[in-house]
Formats: sequence, C-alpha cells, structure tokens
Amino acid sequence: MTSSCSLCDRFADPNSSLTVYRSPKIVLDHMPGIDLPGYLVIAPLRHVEHAGILDDSEREELARLQSLAVQTILGLPGVGKVYILSFGEAVPHLHLHLFPRTDAMLLAPGCLTDGIPEGPKIFEFWRKKLAVPGVPDGVRSLIPQLKDAFRKFGSFNPSSPRQPSR
Ligand SMILES: [Zn+2]
Repeated sequence: MTSSCSLCDRFADPNSSLTVYRSPKIVLDHMPGIDLPGYLVIAPLRHVEHAGILDDSEREELARLQSLAVQTILGLPGVGKVYILSFGEAVPHLHLHLFPRTDAMLLAPGCLTDGIPEGPKIFEFWRKKLAVPGVPDGVRSLIPQLKDAFRKFGSFNPSSPRQPSR
C-alpha cells in the first residue's frame, strides 16, 4: 500500500534493512543517504504528526528507546555528543533525528565560535557534506551490531507481555 507519507511507506516493510529495532509501536531506523554511521531516527509506527498526540505507551517507549539509543551512539568511536532534532516539515510524521556529532566535525570552518560548537551549523553543514546515494558500506556494516545492542530492549520493554495494552 502506498501512502502520501514516506515514513509510513518505509514502515510498511517490516524487514527493512535500515531497521535497528522495531516493536508494535516504535521503530528505530538508521538514516539512509548519509555516510554517518550511528545517525538514527526514532519514530512511532503510527502516523502521528507531533509528540503532543502520542498515547501513554508510545510516549514511554519512545523516551526509553531514545535514552538507550543516545547511550549506544555515544559509545561509537569519535562521537562527542548526540544532537536530537525534530522538524516534521518535509516529512510530517513525528520522527526524532539522533545525530552523532563527532569530534572531527568541529574542525570544519564556522563550526566553532569562541571554542563552543555551533550545533545547528554543524548539523546543516555535515548533513550536506556527508550526503551519499543509498546506504554506504560503513552504515550497512554497523546495523547488525546496533541490532544486537537493541535486541535486549524488547525483553524489558513494559509495553510487551507484563503490561496488557488493552
Ligand atoms: Zn506517516
């Protein structure tokens, strides 16, 4: 089925090669089209336009998964920070960008002012600079490791077995 939403279209494939973790409510995917291993996107499976209309179980699972994702990304080589952004302009399906800011990114012109990283500039500059078609090898080879890191998440996820969702 084709919808007018590119995220809903992507989530229609439960075996997407970009998916790191998927529950009945929340999906954690690797971002395609950029050579930046660890750049993840977290979103509710349901088409929800903003965080204000998540239900309680989506809200809770999204927050817990976000925390674990940040912890995991910070464990990747050279990552000093994780920027979290949500725009919903081009793709109006709630999704959070978890963008790994590496130490090397600070070396680009205009990325530091008085020794302080310029987050929005860094995000914009490096998203364009690292853009590639498809899924680069460095990302493709990281996804299985990320899947392993998130496999255990499902087993202590309160929205599965112990808490009935009805
Ligand atoms: Zn959607």
